[in-house]
Amino acid sequence: MNHDRRNTPLSPDTRLAQALHHVEERTGAVTPAIQPSTTYARGPDYAARQAYFYRRDSNETTELAEAVINDIEGGTSALLFASGMSAAGAVLEALPMGAHVVAQDVMYHGVLHQLRKFHGTGRLVVDFHAAGDLEAMRRAVRPGKTALVWVETPNNPDWTITDITAAAEIAHGAGARLITDCTGTPPPFCRALDLGADISFHSATKYLGGHSDVTAGSLAVRETGAMWDEIASIRTLHGTVLHSFDAWLLIRGMRTLMLRVERQTASATAIAQHFSGHPLLQSVLYPGLPSHPGHEIAHRQTGGVFGGMVSMITKGTAQTAIDTARHCRLFYPATSLGGVESLIEHRKTVSGPDFDVHPNMLRLSIGIEDEGDLIADLEQALTRAAG
Ligand code: PLP
Repeated sequence: MNHDRRNTPLSPDTRLAQALHHVEERTGAVTPAIQPSTTYARGPDYAARQAYFYRRDSNETTELAEAVINDIEGGTSALLFASGMSAAGAVLEALPMGAHVVAQDVMYHGVLHQLRKFHGTGRLVVDFHAAGDLEAMRRAVRPGKTALVWVETPNNPDWTITDITAAAEIAHGAGARLITDCTGTPPPFCRALDLGADISFHSATKYLGGHSDVTAGSLAVRETGAMWDEIASIRTLHGTVLHSFDAWLLIRGMRTLMLRVERQTASATAIAQHFSGHPLLQSVLYPGLPSHPGHEIAHRQTGGVFGGMVSMITKGTAQTAIDTARHCRLFYPATSLGGVESLIEHRKTVSGPDFDVHPNMLRLSIGIEDEGDLIADLEQALTRAAG
């Protein structure tokens, strides 16, 4: 395998399209092989032949995917897990018993649920604050005590923006690490480590994979050390390493990441602009709109590639929003995000009663279909739902 070109001045488009110019040495194949073995035979001297020993440690297909992610993150090391949640869980579990964590009160409901659960059992002590509110974050950190500040930007499903550099200053000033979840705007558009984060987390299920056919979670760090070793050890002990088949799908997906996300951003922008001020909507939430309060910061953090996630608050009742999702003919009424096909969901139905979500919110993941077709689909669904 050849993936040592990561420090060349080539653009990320080139590096991603070629999966770091991967060439299989034995055959010359330009796509990687899938190595499914659970175990590895020792050599004649009874020493392990390579770094691999057993499936739960890792395998070469997963390591190539990690090299690609590490490259676009600008990290020192990257690890891939079987889902975003298993990656997030490994970070939380690597914290000492009773460690203090600062997090947002609106973020992806799975991670929020895990934080609340750990807080409830005393495993962690978590202080929550409003997403994007840096003053509240500053009040919540405990100098010398806080171990981790968790920032999700843009946050799911409101798409509120947090200034990563300012959050890093607050976290580091208190002696804490900053972890960012920028799943909505993947690297290399948003490079959280460059902006000051210590750990960059992504649900690679979304834009990185891009085809709704793999669940994966990635972590990348600027500095390795005891905590990183502990995270890797948790992955081995739990067996949550990304499977080689899924790693292969992820590599295949990442080759077109640039094209997909640029197209999704262009369509999301057109859709957000079209529906802003629409008579059947209360509001449209999209950081790419100049009227969005986080627009300037989002622009700086992503180079203007705001991603394909748009939320809309309908007029009428929660049922009006549900009916809009129900009447779509092109948008799939399904959860998740970041795939090539457009999805729509009534967020409150999906996240349930325990999470603070507007009852009329529709969350849209814009795919790569024709934007005019998508706008026409939403128009007819909104009109039918309004009755
Ligand atoms: N973080 C965000 C922002 C998400 O949207 C999701 C899933 O929707 C996750 C984390 C969890 O990732 P996964 O579903 O891959 O476990």
